Amino acid sequence: MTSQATDYDVLIVGAGLSGIGMAAHMKEKTPDRSFAIAERRENLGGTWDLFRYPGVRSDSDMHTLGFEFEPWKHEKSIADGPAILEYLERIVDERDIRRHIRFRHTVKSADWQEADARWHVTLENAEGERKLLTANFLYLGSGYYDYDQPYDPGFDFGEFEGRVVHPQFWPDDLEYAGKQVVVVGSGATAVTIVPSMADKAAKVTMLQRTPTWMFGRPAKDKFANFMRKIFSEETAYKITRWKNVKMQDFMFKRARTKPDRVKKALFDHIESVLGPDYDRTAFTPPYDPWDQRLCLVPDNDLFDAMNSGKAAIETGHIAAFEKGGVRLKDGRFLPADIVVTATGLKLAVAGKIAVSVGGVPVDFSEHYYYKGCMFSNIPNLAVVFGYLNASWTLRADINSDYVCRVLNEMEAKGVDIAVPVLPEDHDLEDDDIFDFSSGYIQRSKHIMPKNAVNFPWRLNQEYVVDRKLMRTEPVDDGVLALRKSERADSAISRPREAAL
Ligand SMILES: Cc1cc2nc3c(=O)[nH]c(=O)nc-3n(C[C@H](O)[C@H](O)[C@H](O)COP(=O)(O)OP(=O)(O)OC[C@H]3O[C@@H](n4cnc5c(N)ncnc54)[C@H](O)[C@@H]3O)c2cc1C
Repeated sequence: MTSQATDYDVLIVGAGLSGIGMAAHMKEKTPDRSFAIAERRENLGGTWDLFRYPGVRSDSDMHTLGFEFEPWKHEKSIADGPAILEYLERIVDERDIRRHIRFRHTVKSADWQEADARWHVTLENAEGERKLLTANFLYLGSGYYDYDQPYDPGFDFGEFEGRVVHPQFWPDDLEYAGKQVVVVGSGATAVTIVPSMADKAAKVTMLQRTPTWMFGRPAKDKFANFMRKIFSEETAYKITRWKNVKMQDFMFKRARTKPDRVKKALFDHIESVLGPDYDRTAFTPPYDPWDQRLCLVPDNDLFDAMNSGKAAIETGHIAAFEKGGVRLKDGRFLPADIVVTATGLKLAVAGKIAVSVGGVPVDFSEHYYYKGCMFSNIPNLAVVFGYLNASWTLRADINSDYVCRVLNEMEAKGVDIAVPVLPEDHDLEDDDIFDFSSGYIQRSKHIMPKNAVNFPWRLNQEYVVDRKLMRTEPVDDGVLALRKSERADSAISRPREAAL
């Protein structure tokens, strides 16, 4: 790039909830700053467009998985994938964001060059053509998992003659009416797929190695819908959102402090639907509630499917896939025409972009989170990694708001670099990045950034606290260095809009 002007002030990677959220915050809070969104897929929505399995839905309520700036107006607060996409499409159109999205453009690499205070970014379009552009700030809304490859537990399907399907790549032509289906896994995806397929399939069996804590709740939130009757959509949304934030917080802390009481409440609910003779072991994980995310069973759909005889849960270890089904180590045989491997995601950091600073590759596992948003000693780069104990978008909103504050502070001070400075001889005490035992997290800890015990060098899991800190603490906090590059005068002049 030989041009003097930066192509964009901000390059956002990803047109999912996080990227679109950042664009909407920028439209409102930094309206004179230019930005583009690079999106590798043909559609927006990220997760909510990629996953097409039957019944795909949120397991958080949309009053917290929705953005703070846009009320969720549907009657159901547990939403299906298409409703979430519709919400995002509306935001993009009403806020004139669509023209900023460059679909079918994958960001391959990004190199920070201090002298001109720019990220030099390489993109590849769907035809394989490479393009370069520059941006002063990089905002990664690229999600947290590998879009190309799900987690592979290494099954050998050997003699199995049926069809094997992974939820991440659901085939449009999958016919399952009257078929025997085995869904391997016990996470949110399996818990969603089993009752959804049970309508048409002959029988759907969820085969779990380890049970998951499950809780039932109505998909419609009566409180939310009542609020909408008496207040404006905006006010009703705010009230319900706050109620749900507080409830999530209360439930999480109660599970951590009084696990036995929470277990009892969860068992009582299941018993109220499945009856006193239900197999409790199938619902009793070897860990406490909220050591991993709880699985939602909206409107008791899974339990009802079990009551009808169309769905079942089996706990066991797979010995082999045989011609007509799955053999378990204890000898049991589960007949299957279709096997769904709901075995989880493979985590990926920074959208698999080769990030470097001055040509030196960045290994994120050597950098500390700063305010759950930026990284130690990496300039002008922010990221969204949502809460594990609350909805993803709560974090996306506070990070977008914070980065807009940083951009405004940079403008006000006439600087073009913002970098959280951590001296080499720091004495930070390390903390586990995720205090969660879930397999996909444990498998990926080694690639995750570092986490210290004390704020700001951590990815906190306490939205209420984070929100206050991120909104009220001064941007210029003595840790975030705000400075000028050698060519600051031209760098902070308005950029040209690159032809991407
Ligand atoms: C099945 C499923 C259900 C979930 N349900 C919930 C829930 O109920 N509640 C909750 O809080 N969380 C849930 N999550 C987590 C969920 O991913 C987040 O809620 C949220 O959708 C993440 O949004 P995002 O924009 O950060 O990432 P994504 O939705 O993953 O979007 C990232 C986007 O970035 C693009 N991208 C990635 N890398 C690049 C690159 N290098 N160049 C260009 N583009 C790139 C991708 O194509 C994608 O469009 C769920 C996840 C899954 C998989």
